[in-house]
Amino acid sequence: MAKDYYEILGVSKKSSPDEIKRAFRNLARKHHPDVNKEQGSTEKFKEINEAYQILSDPQKKQQYDTFGSAGPGTGGFTDFNSEGFGGFEGFGDIFDMFFGGQGAKRGRSSSRTNGEDLQYEISITLEDAFNGTEKELDIAHYIACQTCKGSGAKHGTSPTRCSSCGGSGQVRTMQRTMLGSFTQVVACPTCHGAGEYISSPCPDCRGSGKAKGRHKVKIKIPAGIESGNNLRVQRAGNQGIRGGAPGDLYVQVHVKPHNLFERDGADIVYKTKVTFVQAALGIELNIPLIDGKASLKIPSGTQPNTTFKLKGKGMNYLRGSGRGDQYVMVEIATPVNLTDEQINLLENFSKLRKE
Ligand SMILES: [Zn+2]
Ligand SMILES: [Zn+2]
Repeated sequence: MAKDYYEILGVSKKSSPDEIKRAFRNLARKHHPDVNKEQGSTEKFKEINEAYQILSDPQKKQQYDTFGSAGPGTGGFTDFNSEGFGGFEGFGDIFDMFFGGQGAKRGRSSSRTNGEDLQYEISITLEDAFNGTEKELDIAHYIACQTCKGSGAKHGTSPTRCSSCGGSGQVRTMQRTMLGSFTQVVACPTCHGAGEYISSPCPDCRGSGKAKGRHKVKIKIPAGIESGNNLRVQRAGNQGIRGGAPGDLYVQVHVKPHNLFERDGADIVYKTKVTFVQAALGIELNIPLIDGKASLKIPSGTQPNTTFKLKGKGMNYLRGSGRGDQYVMVEIATPVNLTDEQINLLENFSKLRKE
């Protein structure tokens, strides 16, 4: 888990922007290296600054609240370990979606190539989002060509080292300008930065060193996940070629609409109807929850669209323990198709009604 920025600033998740700012100022004043000569004050000051950078920026703060990190290095994604396993029915061949028209070229560079990241999308139910779940994805991706073991060179041959750059793939050029001479490092024009070239390409992959493959990835979806959240499975993207690192797999999660509940962050909104008699006299209702039922006492004299809160009966929080709340909005149904007897009663009621 990343640093707890809230703890660093001594504020809570519920603190207002003003409270966060005040806490930051107080701490910054106290730990500023110009003022505080104690050992470690510089680090402390940096840490306070870092925390404030995140918590004072609504977007970064939200990302941090959701994923526990907000640094550019992480991109705000949550890492989950992947495991491959079989027995999963695939999503169909989606190679064309990702790799359409990208045929390997003859004699193409044979340098180490890092695998590309892949992006997938999955849909889950609100119940899955509440409990957390595991999904299995059948990933279409590139792997190293089995024939040439990813070298791209025909069996019995190997890539030839580029003589122009001596295999480094880079050449230095000197540029003279009015301001002086600059040395610039550019990709070798002969081998296009590969450091080597393939004179006899592998017939199976036409020199690319890549082949289409599939693998199964198990995705752990944490409880409390929200629509639009991305999960990253490290190294589950396209395989790197010739020793290059594999890319990552990004899975965007969509939470399907629920037939009973609406979700509002960690809270759940549930709408129900009572008759005007029930609203007037009060009633005890059985309310469905995402994980069961609760009874809710509607007091007498309840007005239309009154909202009741079932504390701690909402969605699980993604970070930390606990749950949001469930809100029950009570609509009042006006009776229709009244019998003569009912009409009489209501007319009498109306006459009796206290002004
Ligand atoms: Zn090959
Ligand atoms: Zn070269």
